[in-house]
Amino acid sequence: MAWRSSGATNEALIENLSKNGLITQDRVKKAMLSVDRAHYAPHAPYEDSPQPIGHRATISAPHMHAAACEALLPYLRPGARVLDIGSGSGYLTHVLAELVKPGGKVVGVEHIQPLVEMGMGNTRKSAEGRELMDDGGIRYVKGDGRLGWAGEAPYDAIHVGAAAAGFHQALIEQLRAPGRLFMPVEEEQMQHIYVIDKKEDGTVTRTKDMGVRYVPLTDAPTE
Ligand code: SAH
Repeated sequence: MAWRSSGATNEALIENLSKNGLITQDRVKKAMLSVDRAHYAPHAPYEDSPQPIGHRATISAPHMHAAACEALLPYLRPGARVLDIGSGSGYLTHVLAELVKPGGKVVGVEHIQPLVEMGMGNTRKSAEGRELMDDGGIRYVKGDGRLGWAGEAPYDAIHVGAAAAGFHQALIEQLRAPGRLFMPVEEEQMQHIYVIDKKEDGTVTRTKDMGVRYVPLTDAPTE
């Protein structure tokens, strides 16, 4: 189960997620092994739980990052274009960028400027992250993620890291056909992951998945 996967090192955490069936695909395991969570989580980086990163945001739990990568994996090919909404710490943005190397691009959208900068700074802590920042494999931008990021659309995969109040049309429009969107959606005070597929002919299907607990996708704070 989720909470049993904690480890003393990044490698131990990822191995435990794997042993517990939360990572099943080798490419996801390799990508998560290659990004040290300690560069992104200021406290208890190798615990399988969300951690506060300031500004009322959290770095999601490792098993949720794994679930997102596993669900989006068929669309995370070398050269793919990906949108990561609510990029926060930057951890998942970096893991996604590892999965679409070489030639891929991940745009991280965050609406709190200090968190945009935190994502950039965290990614620059490793040589791999610096290379991705310098060669355009990762770009962090400030914006309202409910509108997606039209400038680099269409996206093969879109990840939303905060619970949306509905199925934002802009995100579905910015998906490539074929493409896949992974997002937590809030309905009647419950949140569930939805996997939304846009098929080659443009048809859109929604699949409701596990119950989750994410911070909400909101208006930017005014202070
Ligand atoms: N994937 C990130 C999750 C951070 S928590 C990680 O694991 O580190 C969710 C993030 O969504 C927060 O950083 C919050 O500031 C951001 N957020 C909330 N509403 C948003 C919006 N409308 N547009 C962009 N980012 C938003």
